[in-house]
Amino acid sequence: MKTAPGDKPTILIVDDVPSNIQVLAEALRAEYRVMVAGSGKMAFEIIARKGLPDLILLDVMMPGMDGYAVCRRLKENPLTQGVPVIFVTAKTDPEDEEQGLRLGAVDYIGKPFHLPIVLVRVRNHINLKLKSDLLETYAWLDALTNIPNRRRFDESFVIEWKRAQRTGLPLSLIVLDIDYFKPFNDHHGHGAGDICLCHVATTLAASVTRSGDLVARYGGEEFVALLPNTGEAGALQIAERLRGQIEALRMPHGYSPASAWVTVSAGLASTVPQADESPDRLFEKADQQLYGAKQAGRNRVCR
Ligand code: GH3
Ligand code: MG
Ligand code: MG
Repeated sequence: MKTAPGDKPTILIVDDVPSNIQVLAEALRAEYRVMVAGSGKMAFEIIARKGLPDLILLDVMMPGMDGYAVCRRLKENPLTQGVPVIFVTAKTDPEDEEQGLRLGAVDYIGKPFHLPIVLVRVRNHINLKLKSDLLETYAWLDALTNIPNRRRFDESFVIEWKRAQRTGLPLSLIVLDIDYFKPFNDHHGHGAGDICLCHVATTLAASVTRSGDLVARYGGEEFVALLPNTGEAGALQIAERLRGQIEALRMPHGYSPASAWVTVSAGLASTVPQADESPDRLFEKADQQLYGAKQAGRNRVCR
């Protein structure tokens, strides 16, 4: 869960003593959404149910799973390891503090604490966390069109490929490319080319809405649509829809032998990935089909 700008960041307090929780929760509520857990086990249940917090304040001495064990488990799991942990604990020996920090905690606060200092430390770490979330968001987005970029696609492609290998469900890939985009740029100018790319990107992204589907700008004037749990018949429908939606934008081209409007060609490939196969092969197949669509006159889908 990413905290959207304007939303209150979320803090999870984990402590087995209710009065400890109360003091912190009351002080933090003005600025943050506060969730509380009375044990390590409860902390994981709350995360599973309500999503990741932006920060965890973690007691060490608790019955059952202690705070160190909780922190270790959080840091072992790729899904939870990005959540900053601050220990708030009566265990204040230097060795304890060292252990907590070595486990990956960003800070270590001894009890009894001075509340204003806790609040400032929390604020500092929350600010860092929100900045790192923002950077991560930008790292996945194409700077011109604001849709997911190639890095995001490459990552999702591998994840979905592995998932399909496990589930035995089909995976489809559509590769799309704007027709005669070089003459468009040459005649209408690079600025108009950029605007055209944005319209195409936004339209493609808005036309594929099922959760798990991904549209990305692969590079230049080339886009990809990754469709998990989708066989060839379904993917063909989607590819046709995408092609049709771009044509329906009726963006005047003027220098395209294929149409009076900006159009795209698309190649599609589907497979149920086998254990020894690599995703590159599916990409090559879709790319070959795109080449076929170009050869056959453009503004069409090939499979
Ligand atoms: P085809 O129908 O065979 O795909 O022909 P094409 O002209 O579209 O293909 P080609 O690969 O020759 O040209 C692609 C053009 O896309 C050339 C390049 O200047 C333009 N292009 C790539 N990225 C951008 C961009 O970010 N902005 C703009 N304005 N143009 C771009
Ligand atoms: Mg092109
Ligand atoms: Mg091209």
